[in-house]
Amino acid sequence: MAEPPVTGPGGDGALLPEQAPPGFRCGFVALVGRPNVGKSTLLNALLGRKLSITSPKPQTTRHRIRGVDTGPGHQAIYVDTPGWHRPRGRGLGRALNRAMVRAAQAALGDVDLILLVVEALRWTELDEGILVLAREARGPEGRPVPLVAAVNKVDRVPDKRRLLPYLDELSRRAPFEAIVPVSATRGTHLDRLKEEVRRLLPEGPPLFPPGQLTDRDPGFLAAELVREQLMRRLGEELPYRVAVEAESLREEEGREGPLLRVRAVIWVERESHKPIVIGKGGAVLKEVGQRARLEMERLFGRRVHLGLWVRVREGWSDDERLVRRLGIED
Ligand code: GDP
Ligand code: MG
Repeated sequence: MAEPPVTGPGGDGALLPEQAPPGFRCGFVALVGRPNVGKSTLLNALLGRKLSITSPKPQTTRHRIRGVDTGPGHQAIYVDTPGWHRPRGRGLGRALNRAMVRAAQAALGDVDLILLVVEALRWTELDEGILVLAREARGPEGRPVPLVAAVNKVDRVPDKRRLLPYLDELSRRAPFEAIVPVSATRGTHLDRLKEEVRRLLPEGPPLFPPGQLTDRDPGFLAAELVREQLMRRLGEELPYRVAVEAESLREEEGREGPLLRVRAVIWVERESHKPIVIGKGGAVLKEVGQRARLEMERLFGRRVHLGLWVRVREGWSDDERLVRRLGIED
């Protein structure tokens, strides 16, 4: 597969780990929280690039994905996670569901900082359960992992005074190192949140070259952008058991500059799901393809040609091997 780089600013002049200045800070930051609080939106906002797909539908994120924020003197490696739900999720195949919960638990192993994402003015049993897990997490040397709370969606609270009692209660629930009200969609207070993260990272050399934005390859990112549009376009109609696989990515020299040719397969479980995904006269597939292509062009910084196919594979989400091949667990 051709590998168009997904890089951020400052991608050239790579700083080798051994050249890191003294006092450089680097570490893993797990984004945890109940479905739909905005973890993936926050990851994208912190990095200024859409790496992790988002939608109003819970359980949009199926995969663990890392986003790397490198700045002068620090590197924060954010880990977005799926699966913060009860192990017996509705409508998901057994293997897929198990993989998502395992990914969530694994995300808390060996991180340097936990960013608990909550929704302003809301506290549920699931938030409580996740906080318990977060407090039990142990870092590299068996020490408790420092916790920071990001109180998201504050744009939905017009009267900010109403936040004060909520923040106060939150501060009594656990010894947070910091509590930062943010809006991932509006970008409010993200600098403050980044500053707190930076302050709490352990000293150490960078683990990724400074220009690298993620640990995932372009094929994975391309497939996810297709799945995102499917989830957004079809909402409740979308069969949960749909998966997208990028079969090939090829770079070509087009007349108008570099062109990336992407072929992706949409896997559904039943013949009867095919017309849902294709739509009347192909309308759904066409719209999904157009939007996903535009997102890919933005992410890869070049023109994209996208070919989409729909195929049926019965029982894929119960098939451990296929679930693994689709990158849901690694
Ligand atoms: P996740 O399941 O925690 O990863 O949540 P997502 O990032 O997929 O977001 C779930 C929904 O919340 C999406 O519809 C987002 O657009 C929305 N959302 C995320 N952050 C904010 C925010 O700061 N304000 C508002 N109003 N909506 C948000
Ligand atoms: Mg998510």
